[in-house]
Amino acid sequence: MYDRILLPVDGSEGAKTAIEQAITHAQTYDAELHVLHVIDQSAVELTTPSIEGISTDVVYEQLNEQGQALVNEVTEETNEAGVTTTTEIVEYGSPYEEIQSYAAEQDIDLIVIGTHGRSGLDRQLLGSVAEKVIRTAEVPVLAVQLDETPTTD
Ligand code: AMP
Repeated sequence: MYDRILLPVDGSEGAKTAIEQAITHAQTYDAELHVLHVIDQSAVELTTPSIEGISTDVVYEQLNEQGQALVNEVTEETNEAGVTTTTEIVEYGSPYEEIQSYAAEQDIDLIVIGTHGRSGLDRQLLGSVAEKVIRTAEVPVLAVQLDETPTTD
């Protein structure tokens, strides 16, 4: 039923359940799992002016390193579960747009996404990336509630 499952990751606290769901579905359908992280251009542009003396390049490099570590960590888990995994880091872009175009390019047939991400919005609300992906995706989207209440309330 599903051959290629997309798991977009942003390093959210409590994303364990989303990762587990993606692994379970990949095992059930003998599907390939695609782990995708997007270095968020707007995060770089918003963060840089708020830290005195820091350049866009430095912020970008830090986010790039964090993204790499995140993808490695998730991949270790999916490999341990015996799931064939492909990873991709999009170097600079809008997460929602990049998730959509990756899904189209790679012929993805299921997207497993967190209901909210690092911004730690209220549990009752959908994050903006999640909302746009769910609203516009041409394939089924499994939206997974994060494990814990965000710590920013
Ligand atoms: P948000 O809508 O930003 O609260 O995030 C909801 C979900 O979208 C997260 O749990 C991730 O699955 C996905 N997501 C958000 N930002 C990114 C990103 N930069 N790269 C990959 N996936 C992301």
